[in-house]
Amino acid sequence: MASEPVEEEYISDIGPPDFREMLPPVIKKNYGKWKYHEVLKPGVLVHVAESGDKVYTVRAGEPRLMSTQSIRQICELADKYCDGYIRFTTRNNIEFLLTDESKIDDLIKEVEELGYPVGGTWDATKAKYSLSNIVHTQGWIHCHTPAIDASGVVKSIMDALFDHFKNMDLPGLCRISLACCLNMCGAVHASDISLVGVHRTPPMPDDDTIRRTCEIPSTVSGCPTGALRPDMKRKTIIVDESKCMYCGNCYTMCPGMPCFDPENGGVAILAGGKISDARAPARLSKVIVPWLPNNPPRWPEVVDVIKAILETWAAEAKPHERIAEWIDRIGWEKFFEKTGIEFKVQLIDDFRQPRHTFRTTTQFKW
Ligand code: SF4
Ligand code: SF4
Repeated sequence: MASEPVEEEYISDIGPPDFREMLPPVIKKNYGKWKYHEVLKPGVLVHVAESGDKVYTVRAGEPRLMSTQSIRQICELADKYCDGYIRFTTRNNIEFLLTDESKIDDLIKEVEELGYPVGGTWDATKAKYSLSNIVHTQGWIHCHTPAIDASGVVKSIMDALFDHFKNMDLPGLCRISLACCLNMCGAVHASDISLVGVHRTPPMPDDDTIRRTCEIPSTVSGCPTGALRPDMKRKTIIVDESKCMYCGNCYTMCPGMPCFDPENGGVAILAGGKISDARAPARLSKVIVPWLPNNPPRWPEVVDVIKAILETWAAEAKPHERIAEWIDRIGWEKFFEKTGIEFKVQLIDDFRQPRHTFRTTTQFKW
């Protein structure tokens, strides 16, 4: 008879493995003992350790949502050039880590042949910056509440800004992020340029689905503005449209509350956020375009606005100046004038709980 499995074999919920198990040997050996790093050319970095060891990084942009076939191709390159070690950055870049400098050019050739452009680095000592890849959310391919697509919009924007990814020709750091609904799991609230999918119609309760699939009290209490109330006689939910801010939270709670509207859903654009405390405090992005249509497959209206902001800032900013700091220097009035973006009444913050949107910073002044 087979012996009883020991208790440890049943342990499954143990979290991710310790990251140290997966570090390349050269990084493990020199952990915490790096002297400096340099940018050798766009997309290629070298880090030099106190021991004299060097590790070379080749950075390439990737589309975030990848097939297993694509991941296998990337892993094969990692096996061939990097002893099997690879990392993915938070901004959807792949980083190949090499110890042999002579392999860099061959690796770049093969990576680019697969369709992943090498770039996205910056050299702060020379004030030469590339545009990093765009952080984005799941979009139509996966999530249930998007007001716009994610991958498709990002692909269209990055195609238009491709040269800035390949070349370090920008005056400062610029982070672009996209979230396809107000849940904002793309953390777009503090980026230099942000895009947020916005619904513009209240949910349309489907009484039958609500009765069959939803828990009415928790759906009602999930509304942040108190726009929902239960109708327990009819066993459904009533929406006070005047209080609804179209956040889609009730649809997350209950599939009987859809708020999709292909004509009215679209994208808002924000600018002037940053997380860094360097030079000026971190700050939230501000809405500069309240709505643009959802216009697949290339979203031309959205691409035009992003390009106008980026190119105007790139032409006017001082070295290291981020979009928020550039706006501070020239003023919002000039920002709208120079970028050609129309100022609309919807940009004025009249949210009825405005204490949540007051100026917020991690820097305190007593
Ligand atoms: Fe889903 Fe909204 Fe996140 Fe997009 S931002 S992936 S729609 S929760
Ligand atoms: Fe409330 Fe948001 Fe649903 Fe409107 S969309 S009813 S604000 S939860």
